[in-house]
Amino acid sequence: MEEKKSERGRILYLVVPCYNEQEVLPETAQRLLEKLESLMGRGMIDEESRILFVNDGSKDRTWEMIEELHRQNPVYQGVKLSRNRGHQNALLGGLMTAKEYADMTISLDADLQDDIDVIDQFLERYYEGCEIVYGVRSARKTDTFFKRFTAESFYRLISFMGGEVVFNHADYRLMSRRALEELSNYQEVNLFLRGIVPMIGFQTDVVTYERHERLAGESKYPLKKMLALAVDGITSLSIKPIRFIVFLGGLLFFCSILMLAYSLVQHFLGNTTSGWTSLIVSIWAIGGLQLLAIGIIGEYIGKIYLETKARPKYIIEKILR
Ligand code: UDP
Ligand code: MG
Repeated sequence: MEEKKSERGRILYLVVPCYNEQEVLPETAQRLLEKLESLMGRGMIDEESRILFVNDGSKDRTWEMIEELHRQNPVYQGVKLSRNRGHQNALLGGLMTAKEYADMTISLDADLQDDIDVIDQFLERYYEGCEIVYGVRSARKTDTFFKRFTAESFYRLISFMGGEVVFNHADYRLMSRRALEELSNYQEVNLFLRGIVPMIGFQTDVVTYERHERLAGESKYPLKKMLALAVDGITSLSIKPIRFIVFLGGLLFFCSILMLAYSLVQHFLGNTTSGWTSLIVSIWAIGGLQLLAIGIIGEYIGKIYLETKARPKYIIEKILR
């Protein structure tokens, strides 16, 4: 392992998206600095390692605080987005900036709900050759029942809808520069990192940790934003919802055939008023056919949608020559 350690670059960037985080920022900055210094002291990372805060259009003093931190100690760096673009975009902006200088990045939330002591394990996996290491929450004891229930349903729903996500993994992860280079080839606008990163592949591993409570301040992810994220996740990863329409159309059309048989039987038994049979059969048949047709058109739109993303079709890990 010692040998491998020297082979891989050792500059670490911690990427921290911040939206209205003035309550937690001083404490977070202090704790991250201590962590970084301890890692440097033990020779696990390079002295060039940095803490990169991404200000996602905060309306409070977050950016002024980041500037102040940078003045005090250049280990703190900042990226300021032009306006609030949401957690996923802020994170991507930070990662793509860090990619130019870092050998590896670890993304984490500003409220330090993610246990920073597992960074050591992230680094160990990285030095063993992993390109991506996922932080997975082992327990959610500190989350309220409501948060836990909605969050876990979120992961279940996305996998059910065909998205490949790591269960209970948020955006706490290590990515090597190589993985980041590949990530930058995903040109899509509607970006759901938790679904895209597993697509990259390479050697990966999982590290589990317990999720703490927020240091201070309030969650910036209310139910509304979480639902929006879930819809984004599903629609950017899969066209399964369209498949359901096709399925429903087929089912309804099948029902119309049953209704045809039923109505004809009733007609010949004389249980009907004139005109009822043809009317009822047409309603079912037309309804079913319309839904089927919409589904088929949707299927093609879905294909166009996936094509416009121009995702890389494969990523070469190694070439032997
Ligand atoms: N965040 C952001 N932009 C937003 C909302 C949130 O950059 O529009 C950041 C926020 O500052 C935090 C992280 O995303 O660092 C996760 O947010 P939060 O901790 O509030 O979410 P929760 O842990 O409650 O799901
Ligand atoms: Mg949080």
